[in-house]
Amino acid sequence: MSTEAPKASNFIRNIINAELENRQSGKKTVTRFPPEPNGYLHIGHAKSICLNFGVAQEFGGHCNLRFDDTNPAKEEDQFVQSIKEDVKWLGFDWGESELYASDYFEQLYDFAVHLIEKGKAFVDDLTAGEIREHRGTLTEPGRESPYRNRTVEENLDLFERMRAGEYPDGAKVLRAKIDMASPNLNMRDPVLYRILHTEHHRTGNSWCIYPMYDWAHGQSDSIEGITHSLCTLEFEDHRPLYDWFLQELEIYQPRQIEFARMNLTYTVVSKRKLMLLVAEGHVSGWDDPRMPTIAGLRRRGFTPKSIRRFCELIGVAKRESIVGVALLEHSVREHLNEIAQRRMAVLKPLKLVLENYPEDKVEELEAVNNPEDPAAGKRKVPFSRVLYIEQDDFREDPPRKFFRLAPGKEVRLRYAYIIKCEEVIKNPETGEVIELRCTYDPETRSGAGSSDRKVKGTIHWVSAEHAISAEVRLYDRLFSSANPAGEEDLRQALNPDSLQRLEGCKLEPCLEEVVPGAGVQFERLGYFCVDSVDYRPDRLVFNRTVPLRDGWAKIEKAQQSSAGPKK
Ligand code: ATP
Ligand code: MG
Repeated sequence: MSTEAPKASNFIRNIINAELENRQSGKKTVTRFPPEPNGYLHIGHAKSICLNFGVAQEFGGHCNLRFDDTNPAKEEDQFVQSIKEDVKWLGFDWGESELYASDYFEQLYDFAVHLIEKGKAFVDDLTAGEIREHRGTLTEPGRESPYRNRTVEENLDLFERMRAGEYPDGAKVLRAKIDMASPNLNMRDPVLYRILHTEHHRTGNSWCIYPMYDWAHGQSDSIEGITHSLCTLEFEDHRPLYDWFLQELEIYQPRQIEFARMNLTYTVVSKRKLMLLVAEGHVSGWDDPRMPTIAGLRRRGFTPKSIRRFCELIGVAKRESIVGVALLEHSVREHLNEIAQRRMAVLKPLKLVLENYPEDKVEELEAVNNPEDPAAGKRKVPFSRVLYIEQDDFREDPPRKFFRLAPGKEVRLRYAYIIKCEEVIKNPETGEVIELRCTYDPETRSGAGSSDRKVKGTIHWVSAEHAISAEVRLYDRLFSSANPAGEEDLRQALNPDSLQRLEGCKLEPCLEEVVPGAGVQFERLGYFCVDSVDYRPDRLVFNRTVPLRDGWAKIEKAQQSSAGPKK
């Protein structure tokens, strides 16, 4: 199956199409992706990125990358850098449009002065607690602030002095004057500015008042000429306020459209929660391969295309839902199946000696690089008397239908010969199987066509003398609970076995040349990539991206068809 399958439903596309048909909009489509640089991007953000950049591409417009950097207490330049890297890696290009809400601070200030002049904003001396108390509830109206009726002149003077730094943090705020009895709490005189004597990662100490999200966001959209401001559902109740500001300011009004956030099973998609995992050391960092961050997925071996494909598959809707993480794994498996070269690797080695194979003989056996891609060609794999196979591929007491190796039983070595297990050598003290003595049938070399003898099982192997050693990391879900965000304490839901590190794994020699990030399939074991962080030239570390779901079935099927009828 190709990964360029048809597109899932996306109601936003339909809206824009309809507008174009009705000629409601003669403008080209301009969208924006507006992250707050207070953490790394996660898979939920990927949905928003694919949507915003995708819609812009589809309708011949463009998408701005706008940093919503209005809260200097939590934002840092390292997050700006990581966000840029991640969006680029996902395959999107914002061109010249790397923009910052902080670039509009002066303009936003002027807009606020304009509202004060219109009598639509006032400086309030209530504390944050008092403001909350005055706000009322969903069933009760709020109460007006005693400072609400200050004159325009007084408000202008106080606001200017707030900006000049005359007051400490929290002493005053600027609020819009809308309606304390509105059934929509967002319309009850929302705060526009607060005092924060905190250095900003871009504006330094130029400002000590900072705009609130609601005040900055819509006006930034307007300044940039955004046609469609796509945001997540929790902003639906903010839309009346978004529209109110733009109408009062009498400036260009983009259209806000809300869509459902992406939630994923067995993980959390909230920067705050991911931050906690990093800060408390439950993971090695934002780019830990178990993290649902873009950086983590990249390090784990996910491809940009597989993530884009996943976002396409889940579609865009108005209703909240939780997507199964298996769908994300499916997307990467499909893509890697197309592009990853196949290699042999033994994760838990068991020594195997072919007693009838000459001591110093080495054969170069031909192996297919990727059966899905004939252009990937073939390679040579060295074969010799002493091999390693997977411990799991041998059983002293095999259950019924165990078609791998057992005493007196035969199996095919992939790309090589049929072998028979003649003797089992154990550690006399522990009883552990440490070596198998086998014989091979020289008439059964794969592809040589000399014998059409068949056996049921095929196993992978590496030549002991030629193999290279590596550490391999296997990952399981970070959380044991399908909905960890719903647990009282996230930490209790962590899966203690989410990382398994295997040292002394033995790999086919050509794996030495794999570069970090490139995906390979270890036959029967899954898709892997070199870890980009812990990799050293003298120390190979591989991450498993995903296991193969049905590796066995596939190999057996392929073998049956290639063994086909002979003349
Ligand atoms: P978080 O809860 O992780 O902090 P956020 O919404 O506060 O997320 P922002 O940096 O403000 O993070 O998000 C940038 C954009 O990404 C916003 O437009 C937001 O709506 C969108 N976004 C964030 N999380 C998701 C998600 N889970 N699904 C879809 N879009 C998302
Ligand atoms: Mg946010």
